[in-house]
Amino acid sequence: MRSSVIPYGRQEITEKDIEAVVETLKSDFLTQGPKIIEFEKKFAEYCGAKYAVAVSNGTAALHLSAMALGVKQGDKVITTPNTFAASANCVLYCGGEVVFCDINPDNFLLDLDKLEEMLSESTLGTYKGIIPVDFAGYPIDAERLRLIADKYGLWILEDACHAPGAFFADSKGNKQICGSNQYTDLTVFSFHPVKHIATGEGGMITTNNPDLYEKLILFRTHGITKSPDLLIENHGGWYYEMQELGYNYRITDFQAALGVSQLSRADEGLAKRNQIAEKYDKALVGLPIKTPKIAEHIYHAFHLYVIQVPDRLALYNYLRENGIFAQVHYIPVHLMPFYKKQGWKKGDFPVMENYYEHCLSLPMFPSLKEEDQDYVIEKIHSFYIQ
Ligand SMILES: *Cc1c(COP(=O)(O)O)cnc(C)c1O
Repeated sequence: MRSSVIPYGRQEITEKDIEAVVETLKSDFLTQGPKIIEFEKKFAEYCGAKYAVAVSNGTAALHLSAMALGVKQGDKVITTPNTFAASANCVLYCGGEVVFCDINPDNFLLDLDKLEEMLSESTLGTYKGIIPVDFAGYPIDAERLRLIADKYGLWILEDACHAPGAFFADSKGNKQICGSNQYTDLTVFSFHPVKHIATGEGGMITTNNPDLYEKLILFRTHGITKSPDLLIENHGGWYYEMQELGYNYRITDFQAALGVSQLSRADEGLAKRNQIAEKYDKALVGLPIKTPKIAEHIYHAFHLYVIQVPDRLALYNYLRENGIFAQVHYIPVHLMPFYKKQGWKKGDFPVMENYYEHCLSLPMFPSLKEEDQDYVIEKIHSFYIQ
């Protein structure tokens, strides 16, 4: 038996990261200082977006985005059941209504054929927007999604919490990186420790739309502005105005310092994740396991490496007994007790529900040691030849 367990995901903190945080702690700014501005600028550059807004976590990023897009009482918004609950909850925070759509059986993302079918059967104006999720790190086909959204007058809020650095080649062969917002209105990211970039808690929203950007900045700090250009009155140097009902969703400067330091290694981490995936792909051949299928024009961010197996519970338990903490992503959101109370039920989304019966996320993080991955592979093999 090994002395420590192998989790499905974990952060990597280097000496340089620690130095960056300590340096900021010794500076004059703990919140809303120069590191936040630097983090936003560098993150926007990384994604190829005009603007980035750093916030306290990914859920806050989703909530502010839904607010900026104007979600209100009765607005219907479409999302996938294969996600963390926050992707759906943000609509409810604003008084809107969530409508789920089943997933594609090949990539486990929102099924765009089903989405089109759903929209074509609705009267125009029924839905306001779509929240696609780049599940596991697989970027959604935002080009096709934009065409669909435009036909029905919908906005797109991309949940890319799994996919910083992922990209696809569009029909013209152009590289479309998640968060560039070439085809979407807003994109959100999370910096929770299991995600690619860790700041403890943290999140980011990217956009190219100046109006949305201004709203996000306003809503992030109580709906308060001090900007002379935006003030309705001005009584002097002390003066500020609360113009909208906002929140305190700020991130701290020392978290942003950690974010800047982590972002500088992001591409290295992605390359490592892709290497780990390749090794699993090869090592699991010949077993009753389905490994991820990635289309040619996709660069996958591999937040998760999800396999599908016939006997998931037994394999999960066996790995756990051997110190390997695999995980399941996701329990269908529409089957959470809260969403069931809203009328969703088993049988609503057969592809999602079947996927859930079989999926298992294996350890996947850049600091996963080669011998630890070998051990995981060995244990999976020994499970099947017992
Ligand atoms: C992690 C995650 C979130 C929420 O991010 P937090 O920073 O934990 O609030 C939202 N959506 C998806 C898909 C996530 O994986």
